[in-house]
Amino acid sequence: MERPQSEVWFQRAQQVILGGVNSPSRSYKSVGGGTPVVMVRGEGPYLYDVDGNRYIDYLAGYGPSILGHAHPAITRAIQEAAEDGVLYGTPTPYEVEFAEMLRAAIPDLERIRFVNSGTEAVMTTVRVARAYTGRTKVLKFAGCYHGHSDAMLVAAGSGPSSIGVPDSAGVTRNVASEIVTVPFNHRDALKQALAAHGPELAAVLVEPIVGNFGIVPPVDDRYLADVIDLAHEVGALVIFDEVITAFRFHYGSAAQLYGVHPDLYALGKIIGGGLPIGAYGGRRDIMEQVAPLGPAYQAGTMAGNPLSMRTGMACLRVLSDPRLYDEMARRAAVLVDAAESAARVNRIDIVVNRVGGAFTIYFGREPVRDYDAATRTDSRRFARFFHLLSDRGILIAPSKYEAWFVSVVHSDADIEETAEALEAVFRDL
Ligand code: PMP
Repeated sequence: MERPQSEVWFQRAQQVILGGVNSPSRSYKSVGGGTPVVMVRGEGPYLYDVDGNRYIDYLAGYGPSILGHAHPAITRAIQEAAEDGVLYGTPTPYEVEFAEMLRAAIPDLERIRFVNSGTEAVMTTVRVARAYTGRTKVLKFAGCYHGHSDAMLVAAGSGPSSIGVPDSAGVTRNVASEIVTVPFNHRDALKQALAAHGPELAAVLVEPIVGNFGIVPPVDDRYLADVIDLAHEVGALVIFDEVITAFRFHYGSAAQLYGVHPDLYALGKIIGGGLPIGAYGGRRDIMEQVAPLGPAYQAGTMAGNPLSMRTGMACLRVLSDPRLYDEMARRAAVLVDAAESAARVNRIDIVVNRVGGAFTIYFGREPVRDYDAATRTDSRRFARFFHLLSDRGILIAPSKYEAWFVSVVHSDADIEETAEALEAVFRDL
């Protein structure tokens, strides 16, 4: 596939935008380098690059584009909102209706605040938990990404429970020392960390189904309930980061799939229908820590803007049909079958984790249940896989730690075309 115009644009980009990208994950650094494809247009399940090449899109904007691109419901909502003006700086009916809609879907959201990104949502839940408990430390799971606030950049590291070290330059040691990290899916490590740090812990923060070292569900159906019970035993709150997971697997939260009730939630991505958004919420008595009712401050010029609210509602209205989730899961299963049989035929070791319409293909033999296992999978082979797929017009994230997202607009023909591409790519690997 020829991409001369992507080259031209990326050269230009690097002269003005740092590194040529507005989010480091868009660079091809973790797939051996190369020029990122520069896209100009999306329609349904497809993206088109500046050279006119078409791609079947499984990146989905890193999750939000579950309705594909330029879905009529989204386009209409944006148009209608634009005609009424996009920002007032006052309360609006739209934010009320949207909050009611979210609470109807996820009743644990007794009180909600809208913000502009998942980063803000998580960052604020941590502040609220600290305000409520009067404690400082936060326990998170190794390899889990929770946005780029200082504290959350700590400990994408691995190994046994330890006091974090900063993973990003510019994050102070003090901030790092307030984060405790344990491996996901290991009850003993969690118990040890809670025994060591329990009285200082404001919160345990977890992605109920991990999406940031690939798709990694809890080891068993009791795991999340145990995380919650163990955290509560030491007086820590439990925050579920559902920025990726909410409305991804069904019309509601991942917590509901396991019958559990965290104290606070962070939301984002899908709930904005592709527009910038974040939200957090949960138990009313905890949320009442937030200004203007309480002493914990959080604000936002763009927070709850009518454009994001009306578009988010339009997205969720489409998603309220449960058949769509069955279809996404079925189509994802077809792709996984195709990948597994192509891998078998060509004697290539892969392991696939799939939940509903989202899955990750890891190159290795070992099951991936924690971050360490994900790090041990074959990065070189993934890089080749990524580039070969891209050359056949299949777009996934340029990182072995990300997922394929099937959207509601992928047709059986798109899935078949992708399955054929997978067959060819495994042959070439
Ligand atoms: N939490 C999780 C689980 C995420 O995957 C992400 C983004 N990938 C974030 C938080 C941060 O969201 P945003 O990029 O909207 O700030």
